[in-house]
Amino acid sequence: MKYVSTRGSAPALDFEEVTLAGLASDGGLYVPESWPSFSADEIAAMAGLPYAELAQKVMQPFVGDSLTPERLLELTRQAYGRFAHAAVTPLKQLDERQWVLELFHGPTLAFKDVALQLLGLLFEEFLGRRDDHLTIVGATSGDTGSAAIDAVAGRAKIDIFMLHPHGRVSDVQRRQMTTVLAPNVHNIAIDGSFDDAQAMVKRMFNDPGMTGTFGIAAVNSINWARLMAQVVYYFAAALQLGAPQRKVAFSVPTGNFGDVFAGYVAAKMGLPIERLIVATNVNDILHRALSTGDYSAGTVTPTAAPSMDIQVSSNFERLLFDAGGRDGAAMAEQMRTFEATKAIQLTNAQRESAAALFTSARADASDMANAMRWAHEECGEVLDPHTAIALHAARAATDLPADVPVVTLATAHPAKFVDAVERATGVRPPLPSRVGDLFERAEACSHLPGTYDAIAAFVAERATPKHG
Ligand SMILES: *Cc1c(COP(=O)(O)O)cnc(C)c1O
Repeated sequence: MKYVSTRGSAPALDFEEVTLAGLASDGGLYVPESWPSFSADEIAAMAGLPYAELAQKVMQPFVGDSLTPERLLELTRQAYGRFAHAAVTPLKQLDERQWVLELFHGPTLAFKDVALQLLGLLFEEFLGRRDDHLTIVGATSGDTGSAAIDAVAGRAKIDIFMLHPHGRVSDVQRRQMTTVLAPNVHNIAIDGSFDDAQAMVKRMFNDPGMTGTFGIAAVNSINWARLMAQVVYYFAAALQLGAPQRKVAFSVPTGNFGDVFAGYVAAKMGLPIERLIVATNVNDILHRALSTGDYSAGTVTPTAAPSMDIQVSSNFERLLFDAGGRDGAAMAEQMRTFEATKAIQLTNAQRESAAALFTSARADASDMANAMRWAHEECGEVLDPHTAIALHAARAATDLPADVPVVTLATAHPAKFVDAVERATGVRPPLPSRVGDLFERAEACSHLPGTYDAIAAFVAERATPKHG
């Protein structure tokens, strides 16, 4: 399997190379050259497989020759063996139509673990073959940072530098990062916002002074391997609900458009998905883009669902590329316009192709609280704010065929956002025992000014140069 850039001019890479890369050299994102697909019989034969075996089957076409089926299965067993639920991503029924897919049973209590536990193992596997060294640089609004640090802490050949906006992540989120005291883990609190941190990381990917010396890799969802790992749970849920004979809809709390793009990939592979509902909070650029074609960024409004407080959704470029007929030159032009003006109109082809599968909905603070209360009072389930936004969108989708079940992706454990949960429901869910004595452990974190030069100097001083 080869991967091509959405902007058409970077070299095609294989799975191993694309896993170790950051942005493509032309500023685009990598996507498979074509979508692999399964027949209805092949999908039916996956019913009932343990999660790790299903993961190997769904991911193998993307991995190609980079890993044998036996080795990929060893890695999926190892990655998903660390989850606290034997089903890895258990499905729960709320009422006759509504279901919740719990993606938060990993070590750091958010769905980011599903992809990052595997990505950590893939990094180690591929680095071992090359005898090389990797420098991971990432920005986090909370959940990616802790999941990535957990996945690579203590691994030889990897250093991780994780930037978070000082004072703007929850106590649980910060402590899940800063209490990991492994020598290869570097937490940096910067003065500024998440967008500032993200902009500095992107600049580093494009800085030859850094990329010439260090093998800089990405752990946010610009990394293809992350999206690939997320395709698996769409299959897992749909198979349990009767796929391939029965169609299923999914409602996805969306920020960077990674999680819901994985659903699009599952549909491209032949999984019968009736609809993908893109749920946003008041930071609704994606809702506007999908409902009116207007993709224009405003300023970020902080909400109780901080992982969705995003105005520029990196992975939307992957959809625009695929839905628009895979024209790299046109995509490069469209993204240049967006970068210069922060606004573009989708083309008719992009709109029509997206509308065949996606709808969208926006939830404000009271919609979110009402959804949390409904789940708690009517169904006995305590949901986190991100999940509640998607549940609101799922219940608002009244135009779906009557026999189509709607699966809301539950992306975080409610204890991770305990204050917002308590405000809406009066319940204070306890942290699961697997996070241990989080509030007793010592923290390590460097506080730096929000300037590129300060961050680059800090990384250059501590990272190990690549060999090749
Ligand atoms: C990251 C995150 C999201 C958004 O996922 P994207 O892939 O960025 O769309 C939603 N909910 C939670 C809890 C998250 O951590």
